[in-house]
Amino acid sequence: MILLSPIKIGRVELKNRVVMPAMHLGYCRDGFVSEQLVEFYRVRARGGVGLIMVGGCAIDKYGHGNMIRIDDDRYIPGLTELVKGVHSEGGKIAAQLFQPGRYSYSFLSGTQPVAPSPVPSKLTGQMPRALTVDEIQEIVEAFAQGAARAKAAGFDAVEAIGSAGYLISQFLSPVTNQRDDEYGGDFERRMRFGLEVARSIRAAVGPDYPVLFRVGGNDFMPGGNTNREMAMFCKRLEEAGVDAFNVTGGWHETRVPQITMAAPRGAFVYLARGIREAVNVPVIACNRINDPELAEEILASGLADLVGMARAMIADPDLVTKTATGQSGAIRKCIGCNQGCLDAVFTMKPVSCLVNARAGRELEKEPQPAQPVKQVLVVGGGPGGMEAARVAARRGHRVTLWEKGPRLGGQLNLAAVPPGREEFGTVVEYYNHELARLGVQIELGKEADEDNIKSFGADAVVMATGAAPIEPPIAGVGQDHVVQAWDVLAGKASTGKKVVIIGGGAVGCETALYLARKGTLNAEALHFLALNNAENWDTLKELATRGVKDVTVVEMQRAAGADIGVSSRWVILQEMRRFGVKTITGATAREINEGGVVLDVQGQEKVLEADTVVLAVGSRSLSDLCEKIKEQLPEVYMVGDAVAPRKALDAIYQGYLAGSVL
Ligand code: SF4
Repeated sequence: MILLSPIKIGRVELKNRVVMPAMHLGYCRDGFVSEQLVEFYRVRARGGVGLIMVGGCAIDKYGHGNMIRIDDDRYIPGLTELVKGVHSEGGKIAAQLFQPGRYSYSFLSGTQPVAPSPVPSKLTGQMPRALTVDEIQEIVEAFAQGAARAKAAGFDAVEAIGSAGYLISQFLSPVTNQRDDEYGGDFERRMRFGLEVARSIRAAVGPDYPVLFRVGGNDFMPGGNTNREMAMFCKRLEEAGVDAFNVTGGWHETRVPQITMAAPRGAFVYLARGIREAVNVPVIACNRINDPELAEEILASGLADLVGMARAMIADPDLVTKTATGQSGAIRKCIGCNQGCLDAVFTMKPVSCLVNARAGRELEKEPQPAQPVKQVLVVGGGPGGMEAARVAARRGHRVTLWEKGPRLGGQLNLAAVPPGREEFGTVVEYYNHELARLGVQIELGKEADEDNIKSFGADAVVMATGAAPIEPPIAGVGQDHVVQAWDVLAGKASTGKKVVIIGGGAVGCETALYLARKGTLNAEALHFLALNNAENWDTLKELATRGVKDVTVVEMQRAAGADIGVSSRWVILQEMRRFGVKTITGATAREINEGGVVLDVQGQEKVLEADTVVLAVGSRSLSDLCEKIKEQLPEVYMVGDAVAPRKALDAIYQGYLAGSVL
């Protein structure tokens, strides 16, 4: 495979073409490298990734406390330990140098953000002040000093971040650079800061040391730089001594989703291609590449020279080794859910992972070989039950799993139904593969009760019986045209033309989108019609977003989607608007009658017409059987929704814990 072949960046040879781009993890305290950070990356290096980038490493006071800092020599010993950890496993490691500009938060840095010009940030809600020329030159020097410290700590390379809307991209963009001096005005002057940073880093590290640049292949900002300007910038950076380009998508403020599962896999690889056509050094393609087959296709097509897989490495540190040893079916693929990683980053919490319970817990003892080997019965094949079965079987226990439905997966199967959410299905695929490989006896369509659990004679029982949707005490709820969202997603309930969904949490919003997309033009048809100029763009857009149903979501709280993670919520709400879903918030359903729903909207009565009413008001634990079994058998564990309704992230972690200790 090209993916597994070596490549040089500058004079440094990487053993393969898989790069783990820098990602903020929240494992540092006061800017110092922690043991957890070292172990996290040591595990990824052991898994065979060609190059690990860490950071952003703050080059000055505008970085914040749980970032890696590189703005003082006192951080070098910790950074050296990090490098040693990765090198001890045969890996290569680069430090990403970071200056946020108007994306810094004054409550974290203790000072007002700075920027080329005083243009407020939609990300932080803050107004920066314009940098003076002297201050600009100080920052250029801080980049150089950061690079010198990285080299002193033993890093194999450095990278400057010139993407995502951070300071270098702010200088480059006419949206945020409104200066009219040597650092602003025309494109040449807007490039000046980035080029000076590149030259100062090169001067600080010498001619033979690899210098990379992270660039956004397109800002995806109205009036911002496109792939064309970025290619021109990269050409100039190459002349300034940059050895490779790491190409990602747009700014944090963009309304183009890039990091959620709504973005198709590999959707932004074309940005790397545009840069690659302009330069003569290696180019790394990034964003939503979670699969070695896709990675290989990108390389084989000549779109890029390397692939960046950051979250994919959080999800499965052994992705490269598994690929190299023919075990790609055993790879836990990142699904782009952001539940454990980016949602944590945006709320200043340490990173974990929905599909990998060990991510962020690398210092904790690994599950040990079973002693003694037990007969384990897992009741329930949702995420918690599957993980408990996997971990227990991997330790050597004899495991049987009963699932009352026709297939494994539980609510993951429902989560995977709406278009753009199919990645949840890959989690189920992974467990099907792993449980079969580990010899777990799976019995589908097997309903558990007290008698058959007891007579099975297991040494340990894991109860993962899940949850059921709540039927709220609303007058008229028992009528035929009132159905549960779970049944709609499972294809067990049909809906009419006018649909009111009661409950605007994650399930209600996803169900609304699923229904609102019924009858819209699919991606393949859209592509075909567009290429053949069959319809104009406005018509195509309308056909792609105008479905056959009229969908309204009713939510009690002030906003819909309150339980959706911060990185995905705006995307889902944006999609709902795009597909014409109406949302009524601060409203309570008082009564459902034949023609619709009577609402109380802040004391005012409102009647909504509906031929189908969909309930999405939450779920309740199915714990009765668990409680009975706990009293009768000596070793019983409860996991997942059976304990209390929870996210898949928490259910899988609980399953992992149960499988580890029984
Ligand atoms: Fe990927 Fe979700 Fe894990 Fe983040 S939490 S690494 S998005 S699977």
